[in-house]
Amino acid sequence: MLNLVLFGPPGAGKGTQSQKLIDKYNLIHLSTGDILRSEIAKGTELGLRAKTLMDQGILVPDEVVIGMIDSKLKENKAAAGFIFDGFPRTVPQAVALDALLAENNTAIACMIALEVNEEELTRRLLLRGQTSGRPDDQDEALVRKRVQEYNTKTAPVAGYYAEQGKFYGINGIGEIDEIFDNTCNIIDKYLSQPQVG
Ligand code: AMP
Repeated sequence: MLNLVLFGPPGAGKGTQSQKLIDKYNLIHLSTGDILRSEIAKGTELGLRAKTLMDQGILVPDEVVIGMIDSKLKENKAAAGFIFDGFPRTVPQAVALDALLAENNTAIACMIALEVNEEELTRRLLLRGQTSGRPDDQDEALVRKRVQEYNTKTAPVAGYYAEQGKFYGINGIGEIDEIFDNTCNIIDKYLSQPQVG
């Protein structure tokens, strides 16, 4: 199995790169943000509770997103692999993900982090807000709050994977295809190594 964490702050381009990666490597895309928005659209109780936090740019509780990922992994046991996009966003989420994957005798191959500065992120998110319909992309204070949540709660997740020798940072500013090529180079290098187990 090829399991990748696509990492980076909101607006770094994780969704865009994920779409290209799932086609090339035949992976299943698991975006906790997308799953939460679909729960909101369906009007489920989970969705309604999450919306209150999402509308403030605050992370939803770890157990909510961990439970969602657990069920998606169980629904897709025969998958060639997964791209985790917007998850894990805290160190406890990363620890839980390792445990869930270990239950299936698999693990994260690499974390690829798209690096983009805060000014560019704010610019991109507000631009996306003109067409995405996402309330959390339309207000500058909210966009900055999300980046702040990332800096305090999510950025430490990079260190968690670095300790396991799985962290790869790449420049997330530039042409989409160039960023994609750099991402594929990391994955292909990983795949060319002898796999343990
Ligand atoms: P995203 O689409 O990844 O930008 O996520 C939108 C919002 O959903 C975030 O601002 C959080 O409120 C919530 N969210 C998405 N993924 C997670 C996660 N892994 N942990 C906690 N909250 C999340």
